[in-house]
Amino acid sequence: MDSIIIRELEVYAGHGVYKEETDCGQKFLVNAVLNTNLRQAGLSDDLSCSTDYGKVCHFISDYLRQHTFLLIEAAAEHLADEILLAFPMIMELTLEICKPSAPVGLPLAYAAVQIRRGWKKVYLGIGSNMGDKKEYLEEAIKKICAHEKIRKVKCSELLTTAPYGGVEQEDFLNGAVELETLLTPEQLLGFLQELEKEAGRERLIHWGPRTLDLDILLFQDYVSDDPSLTVPHPDMENRMFVLEPLSQLCPYHVHPITGKSIKQMLKELQQA
Ligand code: ATP
Ligand code: CA
Ligand code: CA
Repeated sequence: MDSIIIRELEVYAGHGVYKEETDCGQKFLVNAVLNTNLRQAGLSDDLSCSTDYGKVCHFISDYLRQHTFLLIEAAAEHLADEILLAFPMIMELTLEICKPSAPVGLPLAYAAVQIRRGWKKVYLGIGSNMGDKKEYLEEAIKKICAHEKIRKVKCSELLTTAPYGGVEQEDFLNGAVELETLLTPEQLLGFLQELEKEAGRERLIHWGPRTLDLDILLFQDYVSDDPSLTVPHPDMENRMFVLEPLSQLCPYHVHPITGKSIKQMLKELQQA
């Protein structure tokens, strides 16, 4: 992807673990690589098609002067999210905060932290088979849209499907949701579990009836086999009620382990 680069922006601010650092302040240098598509701005010669690097520089300077952190790690972490929220055309950024006067007691050019953060594309499976199923799903989608670190939410059609897993229970209403988020996979799961709780979800029997079930199916190309968060969802290729709505949103999205597209997985399941 194209990028806008900011090098050695000087900011005088008060971050540090020592009292002198917060009391007196010191010089920081900021480097940033902002990944964004520059083609439109290049073709049109129009600033409104790009991100104004002057505004980004002032934003960084104001943020670092108006907030105080003990660690430059924390300053970078918070600042990265704020830049991504304030300048929506930036998809990803690498941010480096350097401390040329770090109190190390030895001569050095600077000590620095460098992080890379960005918007991640995520697909969720959503389902309900108790009470007003449509209302539970719509309410969840509304709350997902309202989260400040989630954007570009798109929902598939909702499908009525027979229950999965052998427990005698009502039919399900299922769908899939596409979104972009700044949350980590663990933070997103925590948020989804809060929404399940708010919908009165009780975990009584495995694969049993539920007011609301929100599963992370795909999280960009992230892979995890942790039982508390397995991504991609390990059973997605065996579930028609997952692949059908997902194929409406992203038929050519590729599974990061098997390399198969959603469309291909759906076709194979239909033929099984
Ligand atoms: P399934 O995951 O097979 O669809 P389920 O949705 O009925 O079953 P739950 O009772 O909702 O299962 O969740 C059980 C646990 O699964 C959760 O506590 C959660 O930590 C864990 N889990 C693991 N991977 C994921 C994932 N990708 N999305 C959501 N939960 C997950
Ligand atoms: Ca589930
Ligand atoms: Ca679940």
